[in-house]
Amino acid sequence: MLDYVTGILTGLIDIDTRCGVAPEMPAAQFLQTRLSEEGVACAVYEPAPGRGSISAVIPGAETSRIVLHAHLDTADVIVNEWHYPPLRATVNNGRIYGRGALDCKGLCAVWTGICVYFMKNRLKPQKTVVFTATADEESGGFWGTKWLCDNTGLFNKAELVIGEGGGFAVEADGRRYFTLQTGEGLQIGEEIQPGEKPQPGEKLQPGEKPQPGEKLQPGEKPQPGEKPQPGEEPQPGEEPQPGEKPQPGEEPQPGEKPQPGEKPQPGEKPQPGEEPQTGYCDRATLDYMHASKYGKRRIDPAVFSTMPEEYTENSQMSGIIRQIQQVLRNLGRNEILLPFTTPGFSDNRFFRERGIPTIGFFPVGPENSISGIHGSDEYIEMSSLKMAYEILLETVLNFSR
Ligand SMILES: [Zn+2]
Repeated sequence: MLDYVTGILTGLIDIDTRCGVAPEMPAAQFLQTRLSEEGVACAVYEPAPGRGSISAVIPGAETSRIVLHAHLDTADVIVNEWHYPPLRATVNNGRIYGRGALDCKGLCAVWTGICVYFMKNRLKPQKTVVFTATADEESGGFWGTKWLCDNTGLFNKAELVIGEGGGFAVEADGRRYFTLQTGEGLQIGEEIQPGEKPQPGEKLQPGEKPQPGEKLQPGEKPQPGEKPQPGEEPQPGEEPQPGEKPQPGEEPQPGEKPQPGEKPQPGEKPQPGEEPQTGYCDRATLDYMHASKYGKRRIDPAVFSTMPEEYTENSQMSGIIRQIQQVLRNLGRNEILLPFTTPGFSDNRFFRERGIPTIGFFPVGPENSISGIHGSDEYIEMSSLKMAYEILLETVLNFSR
């Protein structure tokens, strides 16, 4: 399965989808072809010329659903800052280099592999599983996730959305954490002193646990945890219809169950003089957290203020976090989930605005350089791609059963 996921990722990297430069439609069509040939029902949407998004559906016994989200577009590149061709995948030293490897084509490839796993093993989950890879995330999501939210019924019965924005490995206090994005829009300043409370951000109070639906606009009614109403059923024609069936004789493959993952190896040290930036960008804050394990910086108190220990109240989000933590334990993994609020915004906000519990979680090892995201020489370790596939497959199986 790793070969399959790797093939999807390298195929996606080879399709230029740079924000403002190249449209997403060829990448949406590439995934449509690959999913259709495995019998996964899918549909492509093109609300503006070239701005393609795709959805795929694994029908469950119920219409309530788990949504797997990623985006097809990427940041632009400054070619002469790269040591590898940014718009063509290069596999070297156990890494896959190319624009989008981490943000967010790697996650697109993992979700595609998970959809194919369901089909190959003829699994009918209890809950419907919807995968969507969308256009336009890097410039606001208007032609992608927002358009799908406003114009399709794809997410009407969503009970959980898993997207990007978390999953980076952080070490502190001798323990390894995976960040797990539970909110966004927090402002973190650089000048926070030990013990001092971060200043309130515009969107969320530091340390405040974002509640699903917290950012609802006046007039919007969904309450946190509220189930979609019967009138919100997807309309005919909005859902992709089941496509080709798996071919007769295509038996589920034995041995495709994920093995408890390999442990990520200790990675590169930040170079002297490579001071992590802080500010209002989630990537920068992740670098800041990452560097803190080398003693250069401490982890921001705003991050510690959302430690799992504080998720003891019986909220919907704490239940979700505990369930994923149990998935990690079941896989023999020791990482602790570190819920946090990113300063920047992602497409996850469109789901949160609709009151859908949403997390950002694409777990990768600490050897992956977060500075590659929107920077140069972006890569993902193949061991991390494998680990993400194993963890997220088990997570999706767990939540959809
Ligand atoms: Zn992204």
